Amino acid sequence: MTLPCFCCGKALESVDPLGDDDNEPSEATTFRTGGHYGSGAFDPMDGSMLELNVCDDCLTGGAERVVLLRTVQTVQTTSSAWIPD
Ligand SMILES: [Zn+2]
Repeated sequence: MTLPCFCCGKALESVDPLGDDDNEPSEATTFRTGGHYGSGAFDPMDGSMLELNVCDDCLTGGAERVVLLRTVQTVQTTSSAWIPD
């Protein structure tokens, strides 16, 4: 089952040629949320999630309302005495 675009309602094709995937849309992006503390609509705090698709046209058309987040991993090194067995 491939969900339609959340924003415009456009039907989306599956990336799976057999079409039997679990919501893997082509020319769209899938978003998931476990809720948000400030939401009055969805904040279950029980591990359940909402999933929705946004087509590429809607995503790029609304780029000014999106932020790009980057995860940067750092390596922290500490030192201590080594005591062989
Ligand atoms: Zn759309």
